[in-house]
Amino acid sequence: MKVKFWGVRGSLPTPLTMDTIQNKIFRALQRVKPSDLESNETIDNYIDSLPVSIKGTYGGNSTCIQIIPDNGDVICIDCGTGFKNFGASLMQREFKSGQGFASIFVSHTHWDHIQGIPFFLPMFIPGNKFTFYSPFDDLQQRIEYQQDFSHFPINLEMMQAKKEFVAVPQEGEIFLNGMKVINKRMRHPGASYGYRFEENGKVFCFTADCEFNLDEMDEIDSYREFFQDADVVLFDAQYTFNESINKIDWGHSSASIAIDIAARFNVKKVILYHHDPDYSDDKLDNVLANARSYIAMNVGKKGVELEVDLALEGAEIEI
Ligand SMILES: [Zn+2]
Ligand SMILES: [Zn+2]
Repeated sequence: MKVKFWGVRGSLPTPLTMDTIQNKIFRALQRVKPSDLESNETIDNYIDSLPVSIKGTYGGNSTCIQIIPDNGDVICIDCGTGFKNFGASLMQREFKSGQGFASIFVSHTHWDHIQGIPFFLPMFIPGNKFTFYSPFDDLQQRIEYQQDFSHFPINLEMMQAKKEFVAVPQEGEIFLNGMKVINKRMRHPGASYGYRFEENGKVFCFTADCEFNLDEMDEIDSYREFFQDADVVLFDAQYTFNESINKIDWGHSSASIAIDIAARFNVKKVILYHHDPDYSDDKLDNVLANARSYIAMNVGKKGVELEVDLALEGAEIEI
């Protein structure tokens, strides 16, 4: 199984500003050596060698995560603005001629998780088929409402692909072509659902928007079945720990809580996502450095081996 990140920003799409781009160029030029500029190849190598926070960005699009199972199915979770580029990638294959089929899991219907749907080109092509899965039995109405004429000029019905909405049992399991998927209700305003994907002995968990605060850690064992022994958990860590104390009930978590939970349930790797729109790439580097120190100073001392990383838009990982 592989996972590709098409959108990892939380709450609001966050394009880079002119000032931010100029600052990145300035820092790249500050550290360049004459030998780095000798040919196009040395320039490419120099750019490749720079950290993400200088040569690019962790990402501005809101949530869309593609699961690439061994069985070849097309699966994604959530339809934030990253869903548009995911759609463009599908137009390079059978979806262009109306012969595509994809399964779409929806965590919840806050804007940042559905806003890409009206711009998803494969859904305009007759013949393509999309099945939406979530525990919300009114998911179709919620998505139609986003494209009510008062919000958007093209309604969902005018997108001519076949669309099916399947209400999965809350916290039940379903099987898709050998892939087992279970969902878990998360603490979040209006509810959201995490998904655990299992295929050929590999496990990927998507936590959705979720708030785990210190009180809830007492009841954390109710999440054991969801997280236990996962290879990779993509965790909503929108805030730093200090901010999470000031933003109790806002519906999001922090890296330190993600690490505590992962260590408790024998997770191998945590990837932090749903980056706050106010966080620059440099601040995200700090979040990652602090998370790695937290592992070294806390769970690492107890012999727990746990990797942590940041979700990076455009990246694809093997699980
Ligand atoms: Zn969100
Ligand atoms: Zn939300």
